Amino acid sequence: MTVNKSNIEKWAGIPTPFYYYNLELLKQTVETAALEANKRGYVLHYATKANANPVLLKQIFAAGFGADCVSGNEILRSVQCGVNPKLITFAGVGKTDSEINTGLDFGIFSFNCESIPEMENIDTLAKAKNKIADISIRINPDVDAKTHKYISTGKKENKFGISAWDFEKVIDKLKSLNNLRLVSLHFHVGSQITDLSVFTELCSRANHFNQWFYERGFHLEHLNVGGGLGIDYQDPESNPVPDFASYFSVFEQNIQLYPNQKLHFEPGRSIVAQCGTLISRVLYVKEGKDRKFVIVDAGMSDLIRPALYGAHHRIENISSDKSSVIYDVVGPICESSDCFDKDISLPETRRGDFIAIRSAGAYGEVMASQYNLRSIPQSVYSE
Ligand SMILES: *Cc1c(COP(=O)(O)O)cnc(C)c1O
Repeated sequence: MTVNKSNIEKWAGIPTPFYYYNLELLKQTVETAALEANKRGYVLHYATKANANPVLLKQIFAAGFGADCVSGNEILRSVQCGVNPKLITFAGVGKTDSEINTGLDFGIFSFNCESIPEMENIDTLAKAKNKIADISIRINPDVDAKTHKYISTGKKENKFGISAWDFEKVIDKLKSLNNLRLVSLHFHVGSQITDLSVFTELCSRANHFNQWFYERGFHLEHLNVGGGLGIDYQDPESNPVPDFASYFSVFEQNIQLYPNQKLHFEPGRSIVAQCGTLISRVLYVKEGKDRKFVIVDAGMSDLIRPALYGAHHRIENISSDKSSVIYDVVGPICESSDCFDKDISLPETRRGDFIAIRSAGAYGEVMASQYNLRSIPQSVYSE
């Protein structure tokens, strides 16, 4: 199941870099998440933005997941890959009219509204189609996700969601927006959250707001607590499948649902991160004054997380079993931030060796660009 020397022969003719997906591990992850959720009656919407590769999407939706989409094209792709449109949530602070119309045409589960002007616009567009749009209010709960500032979304200074001081206005507005039906409250506080106490805190805020709306006559059928469960980037081999049991237990123990109210989740990274590996070949080993550079043929255009967030990925040389040397592993792109890691220990490395950058299944391929007019990396699958 792991990426190791045994793969090398199979990969000999394949141009690098490429994303390698272990579909067996994806299956195991999807099944574990679904099992732990089903046990508790929870509904899962896979966050398509983490990885929208059709091969992966088909497998995820075949297991019964809904989709959490952040663009009209993600809605279209998810439907093409077999999702039930009645299980699509649509989030994002800047939905265009054409994207909203796409959602209306498919009769999606919920538009997660992030502002009052957006609610007004969805109402207008729904009226034009003589439809009722089911919506959630995305609440900014002012919870610190204790993660990188670029992937923290639930603090009051972030652009996401509607804050508590606007709720009276929201309720007032809803009275005149006759083509909207409020079905759910929605929260999403950030990504790569490994401290589960953040979710305990989220539960306590969600309970508070759930009760606030209930007391004002909104007996909502759904509560949606978003995604954000982190994965083990340090040691993917020991923790290939995230601990969904502990994660859902936090909610089981802390969330207060009203009778018949259903709890929804939007996991992205936790479903796909560990099944993907970026495979590259070494172009050159360059001796600097006091450091050695391994220059690989993958760059920040293929996997931008280290350059964008200072993210750590485990890097392995799967061709060599010589004794260890300390290297910086860098890409070919004309930016100093095009560096995958510094001062790491790898077996002595030579031109042509295969370098595996692990845990790259989430926010990897989807963020690939053609910067420097490079090609978008291909995908290779374990089957
Ligand atoms: C990005 C996002 C998710 C998924 O987050 P992960 O950390 O990948 O689980 C879920 N919901 C919303 C609204 C998002 O924007």
